Amino acid sequence: MKTTMNEVLQFVGENDVKFIRLAFCDIFGIQKNVSIMPGELPRAFESGISFDASAIRGFMNVEESDLFLVPDPATLSLLPWRPAQGRVVRLFCDIRRPDGEPFEGSTRDVLKAAIKRAADLGYVCKVGAECEFYLFEMDEHGSPTMIPHDRAGYFDLAPLDKGENVRREICLTLEEMGILPESSHHEQGPGQNEIDFKYSDALTAADELITFRSVVKAIAARNGLYASFLPKPFPDRSGSGLHINLSLQKNGLNIFRTPRDGHSGEAESFLQGILERVGEVTAFLNPLTNSYARFGSFEAPRYVTWSHQNRSQLIRVPAASGEYSRLELRSADASCNPYLAFALLLHAGLDGIEEKRVLCEPKNLNLYEASPRELAGISTLPANLGEALAEAKESAFVKRILPQKVFHQYIGQKEREFAEYVAAPDKREFERERYFE
Ligand code: GLU
Ligand code: MG
Ligand code: MG
Repeated sequence: MKTTMNEVLQFVGENDVKFIRLAFCDIFGIQKNVSIMPGELPRAFESGISFDASAIRGFMNVEESDLFLVPDPATLSLLPWRPAQGRVVRLFCDIRRPDGEPFEGSTRDVLKAAIKRAADLGYVCKVGAECEFYLFEMDEHGSPTMIPHDRAGYFDLAPLDKGENVRREICLTLEEMGILPESSHHEQGPGQNEIDFKYSDALTAADELITFRSVVKAIAARNGLYASFLPKPFPDRSGSGLHINLSLQKNGLNIFRTPRDGHSGEAESFLQGILERVGEVTAFLNPLTNSYARFGSFEAPRYVTWSHQNRSQLIRVPAASGEYSRLELRSADASCNPYLAFALLLHAGLDGIEEKRVLCEPKNLNLYEASPRELAGISTLPANLGEALAEAKESAFVKRILPQKVFHQYIGQKEREFAEYVAAPDKREFERERYFE
């Protein structure tokens, strides 16, 4: 249910809420927040609460540092793991300049613009996320170790699977927050888990993914564990992906239909649009140096292909019918900024529809076992963050979609990160230091 401003004020008044977290993301999708007391909330809705934007990576410089947070009432959510008396709620915020104009570094606005473009063309985009993560033991000082919580594998049961209680608590917490987890299981890797949630409109899905990451971390910590979304914690074990399921509705009908029905021409053009742009947007779907170690094994893609079934493909159009028909993009990982990731994918697909792109043939083969002859001529995802950034930097598409500020800050900071990685004598150590905690 989407709450209005008056409903938020009423809820806060009637439910012993003492702290209101005003949350937003930096351009890399890292959540930030400030707590205000209930008495400040009307002012927050009216004129916003100011913060020092020069202290947020990629936002502003010291000379020009004030920005304002204006809560979006539709995103009200209790934080159930905080105390039951003097409760804590969270609201995602729009970011404004002192003159009231929207701040161009707010990536939530980038996604809103993509959704608006879709709406103007008559489409509503639905996004469903499937997110994998590892649970690690903590040491006696409460610091994370690289020791996985169990040694179970795909779909295993307790007692092998030691994650069942944590997953249960995560799912129940998400439900209390109004997010609907659909299924959860132990994944292939030791200590690796997955929780999938029901699709929503794109903005809600991105907000939910941000919430999901913080819930998983908070609940794991409460259980004495450390949850990590690092794409490839172990070189020889399954990586953690974020599968993004996309569908489009037109006049209330899903344009992705089952293989038997055949999907509509628009759905095919949408898919082709994404295939054609995926290299250019990979730096935003896979933002860490470590992201690239995941590609090409353990059911993570490497080649830019699609098919109906095969899990070695970049895009799968799963056998599902009716409202569940969709495409599944398998390359992204949970370190991405979901607002940017969903916006770029949506625009790429819409370009495909507007340009009436013709869908290429599916590759119905297992790409991990295919011969060099079968693989000849198939393009691949960028091999490392440096290549991905170079493609993004050259991309007229990415430049068209992203506000200049986001484009330059994102590429610039990531280029420095990649240079540090290249210079680091021990790559695994660099990634552990930089990304693990
Ligand atoms: N863990 C695999 C990946 O890195 C995906 C496995 C699956 O299909 O769920 O993308
Ligand atoms: Mg999985
Ligand atoms: Mg999947």
